[in-house]
Amino acid sequence: MLALSEFDVIRQYLNRPIASRSDVSLGIGDDGALLQCRAGCELVVTMDTLVSGVHFPTDTQAAHIGHKALAVNLSDLAAMGAEPAWVTLSLTMPEISTQWLTDFCSGFFGLADVYGVQLVGGDMSQGPLSITVQAHGFVPQGLALRRDGAKVGDRVFVSGVIGEAGLGLQIAKNLLQMDDLPTREHLLARLNTPQPRLELGLALRSMAHAAIDVSDGLAADLGHILAASQVGATLSLETLPVAACFQAIQTSVGGWQQPLNAGDDYELCFTVAETQVTALHRAKSELECSITQIGVIESQPGLRFSHRGRIIQVQPKGYEHFRGKS
Ligand code: ADP
Ligand code: MG
Repeated sequence: MLALSEFDVIRQYLNRPIASRSDVSLGIGDDGALLQCRAGCELVVTMDTLVSGVHFPTDTQAAHIGHKALAVNLSDLAAMGAEPAWVTLSLTMPEISTQWLTDFCSGFFGLADVYGVQLVGGDMSQGPLSITVQAHGFVPQGLALRRDGAKVGDRVFVSGVIGEAGLGLQIAKNLLQMDDLPTREHLLARLNTPQPRLELGLALRSMAHAAIDVSDGLAADLGHILAASQVGATLSLETLPVAACFQAIQTSVGGWQQPLNAGDDYELCFTVAETQVTALHRAKSELECSITQIGVIESQPGLRFSHRGRIIQVQPKGYEHFRGKS
């Protein structure tokens, strides 16, 4: 069999127009894509790179890499309250492997098709495995969810369960033994196939003051909202929606540090005015995930933690690239 060229890969694996997307005048194949922006909307643009061995273990399945590379970008659109439309993909691979590409595309396009997102262009290079996706979405003018809108008195919420992807990573790296098979599979799925909270993001457009997606750990990411909004917060640890197995393994995984610092959950953390809390609970039944109130925004800067009414000390630290080992 003849080796595939870069152009064969684009034609056979990546060029998949979506008939229903009438806003793509010209997709893959020219020097650039021609795209039609939606009247009355702002275009939200976001980009994330996944590097093998940094963002995922080197033995991660290609289908999971494809899913995750797109999911982390759609999660950023969700956190902005945007509806996804188009993506571009920069693929750097050590070699062209048809099996790897088939699996990667099943993960990538499997998720893209769920949300009607079209791949409209990209780039390809030879080198250590690294995947960059840029995602584009729309939000009606002025309705985007930003980090800088939290107000004193707002209630802090988080979607889904936090810390599960982090536990999945410890299992994947053989640092945590999990004998209960369904739990093990669930935690690994949370690591490998995160579900972007896009419906929640849309619902929050009219309700939230501020939002962020939890990629680097709840404490670090909520910290970004607090800094941008020039406010502080106290989280009630007993209300955190942690993994069902967390209590049993709490000491072996580092206590509260684990759910506060674990990355990769891709849940949304957001703040709403107290007067909006009832409306939010009413909207809950239409969402794809649970939401939990975990704290309150205060004027005193910084993030504090209470447990059953008592302030306790936790030293949270989310994931940061380039942080020296001290
Ligand atoms: P150019 O040399 O003009 O930059 P390329 O030869 O790199 O164009 O790409 C040809 C076409 O294929 C372009 O439309 C480009 O957007 C698309 N393309 C290249 N790599 C990818 C990729 N990884 N995913 C999607 N489209 C791609
Ligand atoms: Mg060109």
